[in-house]
Amino acid sequence: MSCLKEDILQSIYEAFAEWSARFLFACEKECAVCCTQNVTITAVEGEAIHRLIRETGREVWFARKLQEKGETFRPRMTTNDFAGACLGKGEDVPPEEVGNLSACPFLEKDCCQIYEVRPFSCRCFASEQRCISGISALVPEYYLSASTAVLQIIEHLGQGEYWGNLLNVLTALCDLPENKRYASLLPASFVDQSRVQLVKAQPLPGFLLFEDEMEQIAPLLTAIFTRKVGEKTIESILNGR
Ligand code: SF4
Ligand code: SF4
Repeated sequence: MSCLKEDILQSIYEAFAEWSARFLFACEKECAVCCTQNVTITAVEGEAIHRLIRETGREVWFARKLQEKGETFRPRMTTNDFAGACLGKGEDVPPEEVGNLSACPFLEKDCCQIYEVRPFSCRCFASEQRCISGISALVPEYYLSASTAVLQIIEHLGQGEYWGNLLNVLTALCDLPENKRYASLLPASFVDQSRVQLVKAQPLPGFLLFEDEMEQIAPLLTAIFTRKVGEKTIESILNGR
């Protein structure tokens, strides 16, 4: 990933954190029922994680963690595929299979070991009441819609790159030249097996927002799109200008 994409990603994370500070969530340190293997990411987020692992010299630990991956499935659609199908034809989209709900391997003693670079799906997971295993988190509907919109923007940022389960994307990225150290740390076919479970990130077809949510969500979208990275706004960079 280019540094530009990494900087944009970081700006998007910051804008969302500022916007979501209005909510009173029950989430606390060492509360981690939500930390399962059912997390999807775009490769741009995976490369930020790999960068941290290289910089902290934790490749051996990381390779061991990747191999704790449970059964995963190949998603039928990305978030933007789903949005495109709903917006284009208004068609009913069949639900995805539920992903693997066993504990995320990066969780140790109820703390995330890659916390500073955790992907957006982890950042937006929150609840107004403390979660109990098997019971859905409690969040306002417009918070869910806003989170989905941000996922769509991040997917657009990484369009054409890997999209799928966190552990599959991270494993597939072990093929990059800067991550070659993993070649001797992972079983030979492990990277290939993960790669076939992935799809490609798609451009943004439009947002899935209801009109009555716009008052709350528009400020978030404006904050993201008008943020500057270098000389340009995120909006102009994402539009290729
Ligand atoms: S989403 Fe639920 S499990 Fe996760 S930190 Fe918040 S309250 Fe805890
Ligand atoms: S990456 Fe970190 S925050 Fe995300 S599910 Fe795993 S342990 Fe939890």
